[in-house]
Amino acid sequence: MARKRRHPSIGSDDLVTHLRDIASNLWWCWNEEAWSVFQTLDPVEWRATNHSPLATLERTTTARLEALASDPLFVKRVYDALAARAAYLAERAWFQRGAVARLRGFRVAYFCSEYGLHESIQQYAGGLGILAGDHLKSASDLGIPLVGVGLAYRHGYYIQNLARDGTTQVLYPNYDFHRWGMEDTHRTIACPIGNRLVTARIWRMWVGRVPLYLLDTDLMANAPEDRRLTEGLYKGEPQLRLRQQVLLGIGGTLALRALGEHASVMHLNEGHAALAPLQRVADCLGQGMSAAAAMDSVKQSTVFTTHTPVAAGHDRYDPALFVREVAPAVARLGMSDQDLLDLGRIEAGNAKEPFCMTVLALRMAERVNGVAKLHGEVSREMWKDHYRLPAAKVPIGSITNGVHVRTWIDPDAERFWQAEIGLRLGKQAPKAVGWKRAGSANPSAFWDLRSRLRKRLIHFLRDRVALQRKRRGDGQSDVAATYGLLDDQVLTIGFARRFATYKRAPLIFQDPARLSSILCNAARPVQIVFAGKAHPRDEGGQAYAQRIFDMARDPRFAGKVVLIEDYDMHVGRMLVSGCDVWLNNPIRPYEASGTSGMKPPLHGGLNLSILDGWWPEGANGSNGWSIESAVDGATDAERDAFDANSMYEQLEREVVPLFYERDASGLPMNWIKRALQSAATVPLQFNSHRMVAEYTRKAYVPAHQSGTR
Ligand SMILES: *Cc1c(COP(=O)(O)O)cnc(C)c1O
Repeated sequence: MARKRRHPSIGSDDLVTHLRDIASNLWWCWNEEAWSVFQTLDPVEWRATNHSPLATLERTTTARLEALASDPLFVKRVYDALAARAAYLAERAWFQRGAVARLRGFRVAYFCSEYGLHESIQQYAGGLGILAGDHLKSASDLGIPLVGVGLAYRHGYYIQNLARDGTTQVLYPNYDFHRWGMEDTHRTIACPIGNRLVTARIWRMWVGRVPLYLLDTDLMANAPEDRRLTEGLYKGEPQLRLRQQVLLGIGGTLALRALGEHASVMHLNEGHAALAPLQRVADCLGQGMSAAAAMDSVKQSTVFTTHTPVAAGHDRYDPALFVREVAPAVARLGMSDQDLLDLGRIEAGNAKEPFCMTVLALRMAERVNGVAKLHGEVSREMWKDHYRLPAAKVPIGSITNGVHVRTWIDPDAERFWQAEIGLRLGKQAPKAVGWKRAGSANPSAFWDLRSRLRKRLIHFLRDRVALQRKRRGDGQSDVAATYGLLDDQVLTIGFARRFATYKRAPLIFQDPARLSSILCNAARPVQIVFAGKAHPRDEGGQAYAQRIFDMARDPRFAGKVVLIEDYDMHVGRMLVSGCDVWLNNPIRPYEASGTSGMKPPLHGGLNLSILDGWWPEGANGSNGWSIESAVDGATDAERDAFDANSMYEQLEREVVPLFYERDASGLPMNWIKRALQSAATVPLQFNSHRMVAEYTRKAYVPAHQSGTR
C-alpha cells in the first residue's frame, strides 16, 4: 500500500487559493468530489447561490474558512479533488487512443449562441444551450480537440416570476462574469457590424480540457448601442438579433484567429453562426487562394446542425437590413450585394425573398444533419427546394442528440447503479454498455431508490411553492398549506420544458373532468408537476403558463398539480430524478429531438410520449409508453382532441394501473420491470458521449480530411 499521505492543516489563504483553483475549471460541475467541497463550505449559501462555487466562497465567513483549513479531512478532500482533475486532464482519452489521434492539425471550432453548462451560469434559454453544454463536456471527456465559441450575456436569458394572476414577469439581473470562473484573455477583436467597428473582449471558460471563448461588447470603447449587443439572449428586434449573429459568426472567427486557435473544422450548431464560414473564406482569399478554391475548402470543412422544423426557428432578415448590417463585414469577399443576398436565398435574384441564415448555412456546409432520424427526414422534406432534389436525395443526415450522463444523473442513483450492476461512469468511452445490466438490479432496492428520489422531489417542490407564494404576497395560511401539497407515495408525472406553443404544455387539461377523475381517484391517485419559461415575446407560450397557473389553483385538482417558476438546470435535475413518468406531448413532428426525456431513464423513470423527436428511436414497447397522435388532415382542434384522448387512454388503461398493482411485499413488480428496461435501453444510446463520437466519426474527421486535402 502506498505510504499514507497526510495533509496537515494549511493556512486559510492557501485554502482559498486551492478552492479558487477548483472553481477555475467547470470540471467541478460534473464531478461530485469537486462541487461537494463547496457545498460543505456553507450548505446554506451553496443553495442560496444556486450552487455557485465562487459566490459561496465569497459568502463564507473567515472563521469558517479557518476552521476548515485546520480540518485535515476537509483539506484532504480539496487536495483529492485537485489531484483527480489533474489526472483527468493528463489522461489519454478515447480520442487519443484511436487511430484518428494522428490526424495532423485536427481541431474543431464549435459555434453556438447559448451554452447551458450549470444552473449558476445563466447563459442558456433551453434545449439548444443544454445540448451545447453537454457537447463540450463529452468532447472534453472523450479528448476530442474542440473549442467552443459563443457570446457572454450580461443579463443572461431572463428570470421568470409569475404574478398573482399568472402573468409572466421578466427580470434581468446583471451578472458578474468573474464569479462564473470566466477569465479575461486580455485579447479583443474589432468586428465590423453595420457601419461601425465594434470592439469585443474575449473571455475564456475551461470546460475540462475544452476552452470556451465568449465575446462581450460591454466596453467603454463602444457606442452605447453596441455595448448592449451582448446584453441578453434572444432579446430584441431583428436588427439586434442580426447584429448579434454578425458578432457570433464573424467576430467569433476573428477571435479564434486573434487567439492563435487554428481550427480545421467548423461546426455551426444552429444557423445563428452561419456567417462564420464567410469570414473563413475571406481569410483564405487573404492567403492567396482563388475564390472558387476558398469556397470549396471552407465548405468541405464546415459542419452544420439544424435544430427545428418550426418555421419561426429559422432566422429570416429583410434584404436591405441584411446588406446594411453584414456587407461591411464581408467586404473582403468582393461580392455584389445581390450575390451576397443570394447566398441566403433559395431562389437567386428573388428580391422579395428574405435572407435566411439556415439557407446560408446549408450552402456553406458540406455536411448537414438533423438531430434525430425523424427530424432528418422532416428536414430533407423542408429544404428540398433549396437543393432542387426530391426529398429522398437531399443530403441532410441525422445524428441523434444525447445527454451528458454525469451532468444529469443524481449521485444517489449513480451509487445505486454502481453497487447493483457495477456501472462505472468515470470510464470515458462512447459505448455505455454497462447500462444493459440494469434489468438485473434488485427490484426492492430499486424501489427504495425511486421512493427516496420521489420524496426528495416532493420536499423540494413544497419549499419552492412556499417561496413562490410568499413572494407573491399570499396569506400565511396559503403559505403554510404548501406543506399539504403533493404526496410522496403517489404516482408523479413531470412536464418541464420551454413553453413554446408546439410543445402544448396544457394539453393534459383538454378535458378537465376526465383529468380530475384520473388524478383524484382515491385508490390510485396521480399528481403532476410543471415547470417552464416562455420566451418574453411569445404571448401564446405565456398564455400557456398562465393556463397551468390557473389549473394549479383549480379546486378540481387541489394539491395535485403544481407549477414551479424559473425552470433551470437544477429544477430540471430534481424533476428528472424524482418523477415516475416524464410526459411529452408536442405537435408531431415539431419536436426535432428533445433531450429532457433522456434524463429520467438514468433514474429508472419512464417516458410517456408522442412518437416525435428521439422517442421513435428509443421506444421499444416495454421501456415506456407512446401516445398515438392524429394523422395529417385533422384540424388543430381535432388533432389536440385526438392526442389528448390517446394520452388519457394510456394513463387510464396502462400507466396508473401498473403503478398501483402491488405484490404481497408491496412492490409494483411489473412497473419495476418496465422502469429497469427504461434504464437498460435509453442511456445506452441517448448519451452525449455516443453523440459526440458519432459527430467525430461521421462529420468532423471527414470534414477535416476533405477540407485540408
Ligand atoms: C434537458 C433540458 C432542456 C431540453 O429539454 P427538451 O426536452 O429539449 O425540451 C431544456 N431545459 C432544461 C433546463 C433542461 O434540463
